[in-house]
Amino acid sequence: MTETAQDQVQDQDRDRVREQAGPQDGTAGRESEPRADCVLCGDPTEYPASTRGATLCPVCEWQEAQRTACSG
Ligand SMILES: [Zn+2]
Repeated sequence: MTETAQDQVQDQDRDRVREQAGPQDGTAGRESEPRADCVLCGDPTEYPASTRGATLCPVCEWQEAQRTACSG
């Protein structure tokens, strides 16, 4: 009787490990996506490499916004 009880506990642990390993596979693809370089300073931007036109990093984007606001 005690032997069957131990088998059940081992099966539950095996299922728990399988559930923890699942979600990690979903996030791995996003981080490996290549990023476009900033056209002004060359730093990586938030935009994917497939983005058309000039891509700016957050810093240069902010500076461009400030310059536009002052000259306007
Ligand atoms: Zn930049």
